[in-house]
Amino acid sequence: MKKMYIPKCVNIMGETYTISPIKDLAESMGKYGYCDPKKKEIAYEQTLENEDLLHTLIHEISHAQGFETGLYQAISHEILEVIAETGATNLLRLCNVTFKRAKK
Ligand SMILES: [Zn+2]
Repeated sequence: MKKMYIPKCVNIMGETYTISPIKDLAESMGKYGYCDPKKKEIAYEQTLENEDLLHTLIHEISHAQGFETGLYQAISHEILEVIAETGATNLLRLCNVTFKRAKK
């Protein structure tokens, strides 16, 4: 299968966030992605693929939107976590995003 193209940066509300794959992120930080609003950086575990990769990127972009809109100052991190997670899940379902798994 052709590898998914992931841009090196994304514009979020006028701010440029870099997007970087990180080796062993899941092992070192216990999560598959993060958004650092101070560094304007989104990172993801480099071994992620397909739906898992898209889900993580949508989730982290949602966090970036939360920071850039000031939503983070109005509601708790826990609520934004729910928004990011349900948003990523629903968007992938709405777009009927599925990838064929490679047969082993
Ligand atoms: Zn999150």
